[in-house]
Amino acid sequence: MCGIVGYVGSKDAYSIVIDGLKKLEYRGYDSAGVAILKDNKIKLFKKEGRVANLEAMVAEEDITGTVGMGHTRWATHGEPCDKNAHPHYSNSKQIALIHNGIIENYAQLKKELVAKGYEFHSDTDSEVLVNFIDDIRINNGCTLEEAVRIALKRVTGAYVILLLDESVPNTIIAARKGSPLVIGIGQNEHFLGSDASPMLAYTKEVVYINDYELAIVKPDELILKNLGNETVTPFVQKLDMNLSQIEKGGFDHFMLKEIFEQPSTIFDSFRGRMDVEKNTITLSGMDAVLDKLDAAQRIIIVGCGTSWHAGLLAEYIIEELCRINVEVEYASEFRYRNPIITDKDFIIAVSQSGETADTLVALENAKEQGATLFGIVNVVGSSIARLTHAGMYTHAGPEIGVASTKAFTAQVVALILFALKLAKHRGTISDERFAELVNELNVVPEKVEWIVQNQVENIKAIATKYQEANDFLYLGRGYNFPIALEGALKLKEISYIHAEGYPAAEMKHGPIALVDETLPVVFVATKDRYHEKIVSNMQEIKARKGMLIAVASEGDTHTPEIADDVMFVPDADEIVGPILSTVALQLLSYYIGVEKDLDVDKPRNLAKSVTVE
Ligand code: GLU
Repeated sequence: MCGIVGYVGSKDAYSIVIDGLKKLEYRGYDSAGVAILKDNKIKLFKKEGRVANLEAMVAEEDITGTVGMGHTRWATHGEPCDKNAHPHYSNSKQIALIHNGIIENYAQLKKELVAKGYEFHSDTDSEVLVNFIDDIRINNGCTLEEAVRIALKRVTGAYVILLLDESVPNTIIAARKGSPLVIGIGQNEHFLGSDASPMLAYTKEVVYINDYELAIVKPDELILKNLGNETVTPFVQKLDMNLSQIEKGGFDHFMLKEIFEQPSTIFDSFRGRMDVEKNTITLSGMDAVLDKLDAAQRIIIVGCGTSWHAGLLAEYIIEELCRINVEVEYASEFRYRNPIITDKDFIIAVSQSGETADTLVALENAKEQGATLFGIVNVVGSSIARLTHAGMYTHAGPEIGVASTKAFTAQVVALILFALKLAKHRGTISDERFAELVNELNVVPEKVEWIVQNQVENIKAIATKYQEANDFLYLGRGYNFPIALEGALKLKEISYIHAEGYPAAEMKHGPIALVDETLPVVFVATKDRYHEKIVSNMQEIKARKGMLIAVASEGDTHTPEIADDVMFVPDADEIVGPILSTVALQLLSYYIGVEKDLDVDKPRNLAKSVTVE
């Protein structure tokens, strides 16, 4: 959460920083700010609201300079408003800071600083940090770099910080622990970002900064050190990403573009891994830990939000195909409830960004207990990718829409590949079933293409009809239960309509009391082993006058006779079918959000890449 950009070089820093902030706005958008260092003076502007508000405010100002930094905030301490926006000055006004993360011991530090006479102009933890650093710099008579090193040894929590110092020309000092920071290397210039998108137009050479590293960034020099002041050699990587992947490409919203991209992103997630002719699945990441899987007594899947839903679906699939015990955990609960973990546990972490704070800490704890860690992440080089023993990338490409779409379906594909390979290895799947599922997965991209080509007008009409509803209930059984949860989550995120996902058979133990003629109930009712049963559940809702919307298999004539409205998806095996139902539900949420005139790419209060707990 929160987007951070920096530039040192000879170009106009402000335009690079503003442009970068727009690319990072998916990470936070309640306020934004910039600071430019020129002629030993810092010029600082910040404003509540979107980056566009900041731009309008700065339009008439002289803000030229070749060193600068910017921030787009996702508030944790203090409401979104001008004074809480970043950058923050220290009291001396010699230092300015931007921060992504949370300083957990800020209250204690603030108390000490107040006792020394410091004044605070915001409610943020970040302003405490800049003053804490500056206080050390002044009292110790040391450089800013030294002061940062001393300060960070006392700080608890998570951070990426960027600092400007009026007495140090052409330099940004940066440090990280627990939040992401990438530095791009150009010709006599450097770029800093929470991810690589702000620097993509300028360079493909990047360095991912590790926890407890401090960077001194000048136009022609990048010095990396650890907190013990030892120099660290930067590991330069080549970016495998291009600009068109982070632009809207003619679509009204990133979310719609990303829904429509799914035929190719799903293909990319199995491309080179699944060979239909030879009927094989190759996952080198998994080969590296097959002995651990052999010894494992259970698999624990850890994730948050949408990734947790992918994990829940994988529990059903892996247990079915591989006959091994699987548990699915919310990372935020798992990390705090003192779970029993041993070296016989195999943990799969699912995360789009690979930076999800709760998942990261849950993994660190499990690693200490000797568990084997396997990452399923989208962002190459991310913290989870580096922390885990092995893993696989989902290859969905950059996801900018805050509500996850293509990243989810790519996670599901990755988890199905994992399950198939493990089942083959364990001998728990017949050759015929293996071949059948490989073939089924192989045609998912064209089936998704059919949905986006043939169902959009129908789904738009359904969205228009139901957009005024106050609540929605989403129901599914078996493999479609996690999809009901994901459908409900997507609707909440995008349309702010309360929605609840539930196992279809469980609804009679409570939620059925909600049903009346004003409640739309969405059934994920594709053809699978539970189909007859879910049809009975639909009848139960109909008998109580609920409004029925169904996701049904193409060619099913019975479901449309019961449901008020139907979204069709191509018929598919029950293991891959949930991917198709998901796409229909993504479109429903999207068009309801659009009907309500909401900002579907940046829903209120949300942000992507949740780097705070
Ligand atoms: N904790 C800081 C604040 O509330 C930074 C939040 C962020 O990461 O955007 O301002």
